[in-house]
Amino acid sequence: MPLFDVVVVGLGAMGSAALYELSRRGFRAAGIERFSIAHDRGSSHGETRIIRLGYFEHPSYVPLLRRTYELWREFEAASERRLVRITGIVEIGPADGALVTGTLAASRMHDLPHEVLDTHDCMRRFPAFDLPPGYVGVFQPDGGYVAVEQTIETLIAMAQAAGAEVTTGVAVRSVTQHGQGVRVSAGSIDIEARAAIVTAGAWARDILPDLSAPIRATREVMAWFSPLDPTPFSRDRYPVFILESGHGMHYGFPLSRKGTLKIAKHHHRDETVFPDEPRRPPSANDEALIRAAIAEHIPKANGAMLAAKTCLYTMTPDHHFIVDRLPDAPNVIVASPCSGHGFKFAPVLGEILADLATDGATAHDIGRFRLGRFG
Ligand SMILES: Cc1cc2nc3c(=O)[nH]c(=O)nc-3n(C[C@H](O)[C@H](O)[C@H](O)COP(=O)(O)OP(=O)(O)OC[C@H]3O[C@@H](n4cnc5c(N)ncnc54)[C@H](O)[C@@H]3O)c2cc1C
Repeated sequence: MPLFDVVVVGLGAMGSAALYELSRRGFRAAGIERFSIAHDRGSSHGETRIIRLGYFEHPSYVPLLRRTYELWREFEAASERRLVRITGIVEIGPADGALVTGTLAASRMHDLPHEVLDTHDCMRRFPAFDLPPGYVGVFQPDGGYVAVEQTIETLIAMAQAAGAEVTTGVAVRSVTQHGQGVRVSAGSIDIEARAAIVTAGAWARDILPDLSAPIRATREVMAWFSPLDPTPFSRDRYPVFILESGHGMHYGFPLSRKGTLKIAKHHHRDETVFPDEPRRPPSANDEALIRAAIAEHIPKANGAMLAAKTCLYTMTPDHHFIVDRLPDAPNVIVASPCSGHGFKFAPVLGEILADLATDGATAHDIGRFRLGRFG
């Protein structure tokens, strides 16, 4: 009998959630991470990630989001740590833009609580913003943010407490179907298990070279600013926001305890990079791409940039996730829930990945995430 039921390869957001769920269900689970827990070389670092219900990317994500909110609450209860902050979210942009139309479509289809504010009402309610006529703000009370590194550390600690084995500093070389199970080759050893989950983010292809999905990594930049005037950014006046404007799509978070504002541009330059190559540090040009929207639309945030970090998106061509069993190796499950919007789903994806690895199927609708769509 193999030593493990399931081996999880890569312990970022998705791998740590899957490992916790497997061990919580009583399976013999092992997790292998090439770097350290909650490191800053992949996609899961930078303090905060947005969570929201009315999903402009596609209304079909909403049932998964409802479940992920429930599971975040369960994680908080089980760990006795606060991982989620509900601040509300305002999504602002031209009335006919992708952000506003998409958020409204999802909110209306799923009957989600939301308010539609015209330019004037939006600026009165959220005085941080300076908006041109014709912009609309959609406010959702359920929006907020989740803690990134703290979540991963918490999930790994809870998985270990439930019996999972965690190995760090070891890179898996390959994962292959082996008889009725799988073989995971790492360093000089081979591990056999009933199933494997590959949650290796931007490195998925290194482990699964035959993966049919045309994924690519992009270099992203997050920055922290000192506001010129903190008044409009107090927690009661400034929620999480996403802003679509002539400068692209930017997003940001309420004032941190240190008095800083984290603001970034979604799909910063859409610049393809190789995850193992030395990453170019944030530059003045990167800062300018973020600052352009701040200067025009959030002028009181336009103070000194105090810090900036790079991070990776793993992009699919249609910006939807990959969650599937490999067609030629059904005991190998691959998950790349990124394209810049996956973190909030980590709890529900942990549940889905555990289902796929142990039952071969899940009751959640993951049709949109199938590998087959890439031909
Ligand atoms: C700047 C930025 C902002 C974002 N904002 C949001 C947001 O607001 N809301 C939201 O929901 N999502 C957001 N996202 C997306 C979200 O962070 C990602 O979807 C999520 O972090 C992806 O997690 P992952 O586990 O797939 O990848 P990763 O966290 O990168 O994990 C992959 C892991 O696999 C490990 N690994 C790789 N190769 C091997 C190997 N050979 N052997 C062993 N281990 C290996 C890596 O070291 C890594 O730890 C954002 C992402 C970025 C970069």
